[in-house]
Amino acid sequence: MNRPQPVKKRCPYCGGYFTPYIRAIKTHKSCGKAACSKKQKREAQTAWLKRNPDYFRGRYIKVKRWRDAHPGYQRKYRAANPEQVARDNRARLARWHKRKRFRTEIQDGLFRRRIARIQDLKGTDIQETLNLKLDGIIAVMSG
Ligand SMILES: [Zn+2]
Repeated sequence: MNRPQPVKKRCPYCGGYFTPYIRAIKTHKSCGKAACSKKQKREAQTAWLKRNPDYFRGRYIKVKRWRDAHPGYQRKYRAANPEQVARDNRARLARWHKRKRFRTEIQDGLFRRRIARIQDLKGTDIQETLNLKLDGIIAVMSG
């Protein structure tokens, strides 16, 4: 007896075809490649957060109350899980560097726009143009 073969589906993320798992044919959405799964997970998470906007709001008060009721828990946990603590610290540092890069890019963009404005300056003659540009450079350098 021939089993019914599921119809191949197209992955919305990479465009490739895949054979969905027969029991999950309605819900099986992506081809399963790591990049496609990641995109699908991100989309599903975003959609879920849109449906449940308050789910993570006000969590800290709850956590803080729990911590107050369980003094020393955090210290014991950290002592017992040094690799987890190191991982958290690395992730925190990475987030900090990412934010710093982002801020630096904003500042660089500001600087580039100021330079472009100076380059566009035009006076009535070459002498006035040079004077305007020099004033602009001095203004940028003095902050
Ligand atoms: Zn795919």
